[in-house]
Amino acid sequence: MHHFEYRDGVLFAEEVSVTELAEQYGTPLYLYSAATFRRHFHAFDSAFDELDHLTCFSVKANSNLSVLKLLAAEGAGMDIVSGGELYRALQAGVDPSRIVYSGVGKRDSEIREALEARILMFNVESLAELERINQVAGEMGTKARVSFRINPDVDPQTHPYISTGMQKNKFGLDIELSMKAYKMAAEMDNIEPVGMDCHIGSQLTSIEPFLEALDKLLNFYEKLKTFGIEIKFLDLGGGLGIPYNEEEPPHPTEFGKALSEKLKSLPLKVILEPGRVIAGNSGVLITKVVYTKSNPSKNFLIVDGAMNDLVRPSLYGSYHRIEEVEPHFRDPKEYDVVGPICESGDFLARDRELPEIHQGERLVLYSAGAYGFTMSSNYNSRPRACELLVDGDKVIVARKRETYEDLIANEL
Ligand SMILES: *Cc1c(COP(=O)(O)O)cnc(C)c1O
Repeated sequence: MHHFEYRDGVLFAEEVSVTELAEQYGTPLYLYSAATFRRHFHAFDSAFDELDHLTCFSVKANSNLSVLKLLAAEGAGMDIVSGGELYRALQAGVDPSRIVYSGVGKRDSEIREALEARILMFNVESLAELERINQVAGEMGTKARVSFRINPDVDPQTHPYISTGMQKNKFGLDIELSMKAYKMAAEMDNIEPVGMDCHIGSQLTSIEPFLEALDKLLNFYEKLKTFGIEIKFLDLGGGLGIPYNEEEPPHPTEFGKALSEKLKSLPLKVILEPGRVIAGNSGVLITKVVYTKSNPSKNFLIVDGAMNDLVRPSLYGSYHRIEEVEPHFRDPKEYDVVGPICESGDFLARDRELPEIHQGERLVLYSAGAYGFTMSSNYNSRPRACELLVDGDKVIVARKRETYEDLIANEL
């Protein structure tokens, strides 16, 4: 957490005091460190230097335009899952030939937009989708480059909501069906099968499931060749985990090395779609204690951030490390850290030992840079938080705090 550090008793984001930012911009407040984004992108990308490769940042992890621009300037491509994400990536100046499009439910309009933009390829997840892409490309008088997302039926050993490569999941095509899909694609007028794809899940803390999936894909690749289908791209998805608490995921270098060993002799361009590993620990959420409250069984810190701002604890039971923005070194106490929303599921931490905290003090929730703001909502008519991108001593208002007027702007 190099770029979020205490100096003289106050948390700093790079060269800027978090207390001062919170006073100026209010809370809840997302803070991103540009230097951390850059460092994480290059740590990941350079781990694959032995291979012909393209690192496509997974836009859904953090879609802020300023973040996308920063990563694009470092050489990142983008992995998108909707027309809205395509729009963002193009607005951020991402080269369309570095965009791949994943997702199980692409609509005709989204397919058309992606073809118009001339993205690198679609990661196709069903035969029905293949038919639609062929149809739309035909209407436009063009050819669509596609990969099939193969579901290798591997257990990624992660939370069930973010496991995507098991047979029971909605994602991809099982290996049997994949062969049929390539044969169909090869016969279609407006489809060019150029790659293979898989993405088995998120927050993986071991390399084994990736290697197991890769072995299945490489087997399939050999089989494809015997049918005369030569592909150029191998997209291995995202999913590398990060330390939120006690997890010890492999370092990107180790991940890159393990994959490179299996791939370096093959004539394939490798595509990677990391999201969390780049964005997760590049951002924090700052929140302020509105009230403290105790009953015979619990102590509560009622804070101004809530499940609408950061839903991960409510949705996945996930852990975010919490500290004081200005530590007071009081004796520890056990707390539930909860928001103002009218749901008992609205918590940011449960049964958490923290130093005693007083009303009006500020807390930092770490590892909030991925699937934080992007999953936020207006539930309880709460304007969405401000996002700041700190770059050295420069502060960029990456997204203004929403106003009450914003809440009703599209309503009659
Ligand atoms: C979400 C997603 C990713 C990114 O996953 P991370 O765990 O954030 O790295 C990559 N590819 C696809 C298809 C995804 O859906």
